[in-house]
Amino acid sequence: MQSIYCSIITIGDELLIGQTIDTNSAWIAKRLNEIGIQIKRRVAVGDSKEDILHALNEESIYADIIIITGGLGPTSDDITKPVLCEYFNSQLIENKEVLEHVIRIFTERKRQLLEVNLRQAMLPNNCKVLFNEVGTAPGMWFMKNEKIYISLPGVPFEMQHIITERVLPALQKHFITPQVLHRTIVTSGEGESFIANRLIEFEANLPASIKLAFLPKLGIVKLRLSAIGISDFLMDQWFDELKTILSNILVADYDVEIEQIIFNLLSQNNETLSIAESCTGGRLASVITSIKGSSTVFKGGIIPYSIEAKINVLNVPQQTIENFTAISEETALSMAENCLAKMNSTYAISVTGNLEKQIGETFVWIGLAKQGYSIAKKLHVFYDREKNAVLVTNTALNLLRLFILHKPY
Ligand code: AMP
Ligand code: MG
Repeated sequence: MQSIYCSIITIGDELLIGQTIDTNSAWIAKRLNEIGIQIKRRVAVGDSKEDILHALNEESIYADIIIITGGLGPTSDDITKPVLCEYFNSQLIENKEVLEHVIRIFTERKRQLLEVNLRQAMLPNNCKVLFNEVGTAPGMWFMKNEKIYISLPGVPFEMQHIITERVLPALQKHFITPQVLHRTIVTSGEGESFIANRLIEFEANLPASIKLAFLPKLGIVKLRLSAIGISDFLMDQWFDELKTILSNILVADYDVEIEQIIFNLLSQNNETLSIAESCTGGRLASVITSIKGSSTVFKGGIIPYSIEAKINVLNVPQQTIENFTAISEETALSMAENCLAKMNSTYAISVTGNLEKQIGETFVWIGLAKQGYSIAKKLHVFYDREKNAVLVTNTALNLLRLFILHKPY
């Protein structure tokens, strides 16, 4: 099967000066890869006619599909539409459906409709309009010399909507795309290089058509097998082998965030969680509450950042802190146990420690409690403050997962 190539051109001065990070092309690349279309090149250009025309000409040499994002806004700096008209020799005509849609959006939001907004409904006569339910600028699909050109708004959620609803189905109809298989596992407890070392033989035996990718995220390492043009059966065999090798650190055999797994476990058993976190400053609670429906499992969080708060708010005995310090197994246990009692939850997690490098060791204590049983674990941290916070959060959630499942850690 012949490969299908796509180039992505992102347009906007803000991308060139680093004010906006180009997340659009990474997102588009992922979606296209999933349907077997390969990305040939990614180019960013400013809001300049010459640069846009040059990029269109240049990318037409390399790719079958050219996807453009940005420059479709109603403001004068956004010039993509007139430039495309010149490139494709188009006349602008009013599109009734888009016009009604723009008017409806402004009426609903009780906002004054300006002439520039109505101009969003003026579209090239020789493009297929890719309707945009979630914004005012529609996408446009052109054909020229058997190449496909797709222009989309720069606003990420609008672009994503049009790609998902319009572009991917249309591309799958237009091309016979090869089947692309992906299998992902989520692991926690070992670093990326340690895992890579354990997989040397596995990787060496892997058929050339299957690629192994590491996606490390501080405390969590995801591994993905990807292949084009092989059977599900063969893929599953290799995936099973990967899972077997890494069974001791396996968190999930599909792509999922650890906080979602915690939510699922608690929710299945009608159980609840509370959190007493010092050095992570609310990050654990924030991650848990990012999950839809978390109010059914999360009782609440306390951030006893100072020693005073640990003693006065969380009832950690002053004696414990004096004897063992605030960053100790005993303090972590007391925090978790008292949090459990105060919040009346099924489980409680506590965290106390240093996220910034100390003389000697830098570490945190993570405590876990349920009725009648509690444990604490020491975790050494090696990165900067921000990264350590992520590492501690992910590690704490994985320890909680093992605690809930009665697994060793
Ligand atoms: P535009 O379509 O050029 O008016 O862009 C609208 C908004 O989308 C602006 O706030 C841009 O910062 C944002 N945007 C444009 N291009 C990208 C991109 N490649 N990645 C992420 N955001 C973008
Ligand atoms: Mg712009």
